[in-house]
Amino acid sequence: VDELSSRLARVVGPDQVITDRAVLAGYETDWTGRFAGRARLVVRPADRDEVAGVLLVCRDARVAVVPQGGNTGLVGGGVPRDGEVVLSLRRLDRLGPVDPIAGQVTVGAGATLAAVRRHAAAAGLDFGVDLAARESATIGGMVNTNAGGIRVLRWGSMRAQVVGAEAVLTDGRVLRRLAGLPKDSTGYDLVGTLVGSEGTLAVLTAVRLRLVPRPRRQVTATLAVADTVAAQRVLASVRAGVPGLTSAEIFYADGLRIVCDTQSIAPPFRTSYTTYLLVDFGAEDDPTPALAAALASRDDVLDSAIATDEAARRTLWAHRDGHTEAVNTLGVPLKLDVGVPAPALAEFEHELRAIVEVAGARLVLFGHLAEGNFHANVIGAHDPDTLTDAVMRAVARYGGTISAEHGVGVAKARWLPLVRSPVELELMAATKRAWDPDGLLNPGVLLPR
Ligand SMILES: Cc1cc2nc3c(=O)[nH]c(=O)nc-3n(C[C@H](O)[C@H](O)[C@H](O)COP(=O)(O)OP(=O)(O)OC[C@H]3O[C@@H](n4cnc5c(N)ncnc54)[C@H](O)[C@@H]3O)c2cc1C
Repeated sequence: VDELSSRLARVVGPDQVITDRAVLAGYETDWTGRFAGRARLVVRPADRDEVAGVLLVCRDARVAVVPQGGNTGLVGGGVPRDGEVVLSLRRLDRLGPVDPIAGQVTVGAGATLAAVRRHAAAAGLDFGVDLAARESATIGGMVNTNAGGIRVLRWGSMRAQVVGAEAVLTDGRVLRRLAGLPKDSTGYDLVGTLVGSEGTLAVLTAVRLRLVPRPRRQVTATLAVADTVAAQRVLASVRAGVPGLTSAEIFYADGLRIVCDTQSIAPPFRTSYTTYLLVDFGAEDDPTPALAAALASRDDVLDSAIATDEAARRTLWAHRDGHTEAVNTLGVPLKLDVGVPAPALAEFEHELRAIVEVAGARLVLFGHLAEGNFHANVIGAHDPDTLTDAVMRAVARYGGTISAEHGVGVAKARWLPLVRSPVELELMAATKRAWDPDGLLNPGVLLPR
C-alpha cells in the first residue's frame, strides 16, 4: 500500500480506496469503450467533508483528480487518462425532503436521475430533464455536462433546473448556496458557472433542483414522414395546435432496424419508412383530440401510431430510447453530438451524410428535432480525427455548436476554438485559474491544453 492510498484510507476508510486492477477497470473505461486510461486508484467518499479531505490529500501529493458520477458520459470527461485519482461521487446519493411550496428538492450529487424522478413523483411532482441513461446517470454528472435529453423543449436543459449547489474547491473550501431563492440579484452566478464545467472547477456534492408539475394526461405518437424537412413541418403544426408538447425526437429507417433487431421488438408500422418523428405531450386535459385534429389535415404524415396508456407509450418510446445501446452493438462508435439552427438542419444533414459516405463509414443518425440536435454515430471510421474535423467545421459554418448536450470532454477539446471566440477562451482560462489554481481537476478536459 503506497503513501497516497493510506492517507486517503484515513479519510474515507480502507474499503473505499480501490486499487484492485480488476475492480478499477469499471471506472477506467467510458460507456462507449472509446475512451480508457489508467487510474492510480479510485476513492469513494461518503459525504462532503470526506470529499474535502480527499481533495486536500491529492493537492498535497500533487495528483490530478477525475471526478466521476455514473460514468455514462460520452466524451471521455469522466474517465482517467494518465494515472489520475478517480473520485467517485456515487455514494453521495442522499435525497432531501421535497419542498412542496417552492417546488424544489436538494439531492446529493451522486443521486441517479431515476431516483430523483421517483422521489419527486412520490410528492406528486416531476423532474424536468429525462434521458435514456436515467438509471445510472447522476445529478452531479448531468449538471457538469449541462445534460439535455428528451424534454428540453418543454423544461430546458439542466441549466434551467439548478437553483442552488454545494461544491468543494481543491483547497477544501466549500461553496454552499442551497437556499434556492427564486429571486436573487446579488452579482455573479457562481452556481451557474459550475453548470457545464465538466469537473474542471470544483467537485459538486449537492444540488438544489427545481421540480415541475406531473401532467395528468400523456400521449405519445410516432409519425412516419418523408424526410427531416417534413418532420420539421409536422413539428411546427403540432407545436402550435396541440397543448403540452414535451418531446420531439427524430430517427431514421436504419437506426430503427438496428434497435428492433438487437432488442427483438416490433417496429411501429408494418411498412418501413425513411423518417420517424416521435412526439410526446403532457397536459391537464387529454391532448389526443387536438393531436388527431392536427394530423387529420396533413398529407405529409404517411402513417401514425398513437398511444395513451403507459405500456403502449413505453413501447413507442423504446424505438427511440434504444438507439444509443443498439449502436454500441455495431462496434465502438464515434459519437458526434452536434446542433445547428433549425432552418439549417436539413442542409447540414445532407452534408453530414456525404462526409461519412466519402469516409467509407456507416452513419446512424437520430436526435432531438426541436433543438436541431443530431447524434451522429459513425461506425467503421478509419480516420476518426479527419472525419470529426470535417463535421465540426461544417457545424461551425452553419452557426451551430460542436456539443449540444454531451459536453466537450477530451473528445472535442481541440475543436472548441471553432465555436468559442478568443475572448471567451481567455475568460474561460481565467475562470479555471481562479477556481482551480493548481490545475488539479480534470486536466485535458474541456479547455484545449
Ligand atoms: C444510453 C445513454 C443515453 C444518453 N442520453 C443523453 C441525452 O439524451 N442527453 C444528454 O445530455 N446526455 C445523454 N447521455 C450522456 C450524458 O452526458 C450522461 O448520461 C450524464 O449527463 C452524465 O452523468 P454521469 O453521472 O454518468 O456523469 P459521468 O459520465 O460520470 O461524468 C460526466 C462529466 O461530469 C463530471 N462529473 C461527474 N460528477 C461530478 C461531480 N459530482 N462534480 C464535478 N464533476 C463531476 C465528470 O468529471 C465528467 O466530466 C446519454 C448517455 C447514455 C449512456
